[in-house]
Amino acid sequence: MPVEPRAIESLLGFWVEAGIDAALLDSPLDRLAERPRPTSPPRPAAATPLAAATGPDVSGAIAEARRLAAAAGDLAALGAAIAAFEGCALRYEGARQAVFSRGAADAPLMVIGEAPGGDEDAQGAPFVGRAGKLLDKMLAAAGLSDRVFITNTVFWRPPGNRNPTPQEQLVCAPFLERAIALVQPKLLMLAGGQAAKAMLQRPEGILALRGRWFDWASSDGALALPALPTLHPAFLLRQPAAKKRAWADIMMLAERLDRPERP
Ligand code: URA
Repeated sequence: MPVEPRAIESLLGFWVEAGIDAALLDSPLDRLAERPRPTSPPRPAAATPLAAATGPDVSGAIAEARRLAAAAGDLAALGAAIAAFEGCALRYEGARQAVFSRGAADAPLMVIGEAPGGDEDAQGAPFVGRAGKLLDKMLAAAGLSDRVFITNTVFWRPPGNRNPTPQEQLVCAPFLERAIALVQPKLLMLAGGQAAKAMLQRPEGILALRGRWFDWASSDGALALPALPTLHPAFLLRQPAAKKRAWADIMMLAERLDRPERP
């Protein structure tokens, strides 16, 4: 049956919006060979992290991330530690650079997304593409623009914008926890299912989790914060009718931030 060109265009448009910007060929193409390699190869201690981060045992990489994160006394040092960290496999899968954060260092609200995409990889800051612009618009409309710190569960772009794996998120978690400890936000907003799952360790999908408060706690139990999962702005670009629900979530955050008592 002949396929309508308009149907193909519409399908391609949908794929691009969904972040699928790489086509699969009949034979494998080594895209890593096209990119500049990291200047220094992983140190011997990191030869295991790289292997471990792709396999089930990432304990060595997590321990190293914990050590580096704990030694970072401020956000600048933490960003530098992340950029130098060799234990996350994503670093070697075509990412151009580490993408850590943007926003106010003492923000009362921390937005945690899933992973950097293509625009973030190119510019070195989270949520700077179309989804980020929508997020910024919503935060601005809620009066939160200057009260937010934005980061992700992992700090390198997953190839082809796939979801980060639980191992990749576990390896990056000590840096994220350290960022929370340094910024000391009052509330966390978890943008999208992958962020909610990683932070809350719950099996439900985002449609079941969004709009409900959860207690997030750091792995050592030293930090605890209210966390609100919400729909990812990239999802809202594809499903504009869902914006109403995301807006209701942001309003809940803004309202709780402004309560005089501790949220
Ligand atoms: N999506 C995310 O989850 N994070 C970004 O930084 C960009 C897009």
